[in-house]
Amino acid sequence: MSEPVLRVENLRKSFGGLVAVDGASFEIEEGSIVGLIGPNGAGKSTTFNLITGFYEADGGTVEFRGEDIVDNSPEERAQRGMVRTFQITRELTGMKVAQNMRLGGQDHDGEKVVHALAGTAADREREIGSKAKTVLKQLELWELRDEYAGNLSGGQRKLLELGRALMANPDVLLLDEPMAGVNPSLTDEIIEMIDELCEQGITFLIVEHDVDMIMDISDKVIGMHQGQVLVSGPPSWVQKDEDLLEAYFGG
Ligand code: ADP
Ligand code: MG
Repeated sequence: MSEPVLRVENLRKSFGGLVAVDGASFEIEEGSIVGLIGPNGAGKSTTFNLITGFYEADGGTVEFRGEDIVDNSPEERAQRGMVRTFQITRELTGMKVAQNMRLGGQDHDGEKVVHALAGTAADREREIGSKAKTVLKQLELWELRDEYAGNLSGGQRKLLELGRALMANPDVLLLDEPMAGVNPSLTDEIIEMIDELCEQGITFLIVEHDVDMIMDISDKVIGMHQGQVLVSGPPSWVQKDEDLLEAYFGG
């Protein structure tokens, strides 16, 4: 762990009169896993969308490797190496796993891999196919490559979402609720996968409702409440924070 790869400062976003993110500041160190937690409505997803560029900030900065990217589009941010997962949409459930992966290497969150490759269209196709195979094997989805995405379990679908994002060769991977709808028997597998990918050099920001999972996996935990960062630090430390516990379980 070293330099912050991502630095958020005084980030603000309102919807009408409602202040969803109210001056949030935090840093994400390169090579770490950072968990973002907080009660419903705390502003986690809005923060996530501001960082990835899907919402326009009312104020504040988002720095990626020291450069302010707050005016960059989501595509530009993805090309810089900041990639998020997307839900497997209805359209994608009708396609096979392998096809989903190929598209992950081609659509907006996959532009980086496509641009990085030289050669003819056939060369690129081959490269994408070989990358997809490597990723599917790592995620233990290779055997399911000819299955329709719609036939996968909740957990397998989450792994496929992860796989599609990995096709873009991310430096920083942002996950919004990777455990939602996942059978408890598969959560350990997803945690192991995230750990393994982190060891390969990917930095993670994970928004998650499952506090136990976040405490287990994160190097740093950021606790939000009412649009503000209430606490930020190592899990053991955050776990003892009374304000955050109050925000979660208090009135
Ligand atoms: P969390 O992910 O922590 O549950 P959100 O970031 O989704 O919280 O929401 C924070 C607040 O902003 C909530 O009060 C929510 O209702 C509101 N909000 C989020 N997105 C929108 C939107 N697109 N339009 C209006 N209000 C929104
Ligand atoms: Mg949310």
